[in-house]
Amino acid sequence: MKALISIDYTNDFIANDGALTTGLAGQSIENNLVKVTESFIALDHFVVFAIDAHDSNDLYHPENNLFPPHNIIGKQGQQLYGALGQLYSNHQSSSQIYWINKRHYSAFCGTDLDLRLRERAINEIHLTGVCTDICILHTAIDAYNLGYKIVIYQDAVASFDTIGHKWALNHFKQTLGAEILSVNNK
Ligand code: ZN
Repeated sequence: MKALISIDYTNDFIANDGALTTGLAGQSIENNLVKVTESFIALDHFVVFAIDAHDSNDLYHPENNLFPPHNIIGKQGQQLYGALGQLYSNHQSSSQIYWINKRHYSAFCGTDLDLRLRERAINEIHLTGVCTDICILHTAIDAYNLGYKIVIYQDAVASFDTIGHKWALNHFKQTLGAEILSVNNK
């Protein structure tokens, strides 16, 4: 059984005025991201939106020293961007759609994602979203350590760091044993 994990495609990470935007790199995967997400929804697969979520006055978070405030819970910046946001709002009442507020890079860190996958006998996860070399990478490493088969859509992940993006795609394949696919020729 497989599931799609959709990571951090929010206004703060994608919109031109986002607090920590990937800009054009992130915007350029919008159609591919919607296409692959729609295909999972159409086949009634489990689709998880694992979304960065911060409190506005969290004095203890290690990201405070690394990044400006972003993805504040309840703010516009934490909402899904563009057509993916529309797709989510059309299907969010489905039992096969699940939203996780995650506080760290990995979708597994401090969340019930592993339990939700295992109770559905899911052993293969497909990753999309941003950033390839941060949250996708950390999620993939945790998935590898937990024994999941990993699939990455190279044209539905993006980063503001071109070199990091390329490095991570190679790492997924060479070190985590991930299958690298393209949305447009699966
Ligand atoms: Zn964050």
